[in-house]
Amino acid sequence: RTAAQKPEEVIKKYMEEVRVIPDEDCMICMERLSCPSGYDSPEGGSQALQPSTVGKFTKCGHTLHMLCMLAMYNNGNKDGSLQCPSCKTIYGEKTGTQPKGKMEIYSIPQSLPGHPDCGTIQIIYNIPPGIQGPEHPNPGQPYTCRGFPRFCFLPDNDKGRKVLELLKVAWTRRLIFTVGTSNTTGEPDTVVWNEIHHKTEMMSNVSGHGYPDPNYLDNVLAELAAQGVNEDCLKR
Ligand code: NAD
Ligand code: ZN
Ligand code: ZN
Repeated sequence: RTAAQKPEEVIKKYMEEVRVIPDEDCMICMERLSCPSGYDSPEGGSQALQPSTVGKFTKCGHTLHMLCMLAMYNNGNKDGSLQCPSCKTIYGEKTGTQPKGKMEIYSIPQSLPGHPDCGTIQIIYNIPPGIQGPEHPNPGQPYTCRGFPRFCFLPDNDKGRKVLELLKVAWTRRLIFTVGTSNTTGEPDTVVWNEIHHKTEMMSNVSGHGYPDPNYLDNVLAELAAQGVNEDCLKR
């Protein structure tokens, strides 16, 4: 990972200060933008960000108190990326908190229901149990790993292979799994899927996580894009 940037520098990289304050509320603190942010300047921080400083995101143009955005950034995993709280546009490379593990790719010469003209890509994720880091809900406590290795399936056609390449990017950015409470089992401090749906059933769809599902590839492309993983990531 790249050397940690100072939080204020991350804010200033993706937001510019506005002189004419819009007559709107701040999405984070819900105060009028013309009133100061409820957040104080951090100890030892540069004097450039005052509670009254209003910033505008460079791409989407949404406006917020810059100190409110700084507080939100400092509350997250401080990976050098920002996400606009209004429209969810991602600035920089969003990374997650997925624990260490392995992603393996295999080819299966059998077709998936709904994709009769091609074979199948099998992804195997394996994550061993470990101790939570500072980015996890209970640092220093163990986390469990249920149902690993997890087997996932994609059609081995152009779109399926594109999804695979984007999933590899998401894996490298630690976005596929996270540590938290499982919705299915209620177990806390365990490794769970994180916002990017996978198909874990190959020849049936009893769980809803199987085939056929004609919308799956488009849906997962949209979920990847919502995490900042899109075609642009494959061009670099
Ligand atoms: P969760 O229950 O917290 O749900 C997180 C997301 O995963 C949700 O979006 C949910 O829709 C999705 N999800 C739930 N069940 C899924 C499944 N079977 N396949 C694909 N996606 C699923 O997530 P979790 O706790 O990580 O997983 C859900 C359950 O599925 C767990 O009990 C896990 O052990 C089990 N599972 C078992 C195997 C296995 O090979 N035994 C494989 C995958 C998942
Ligand atoms: Zn605010
Ligand atoms: Zn925005």
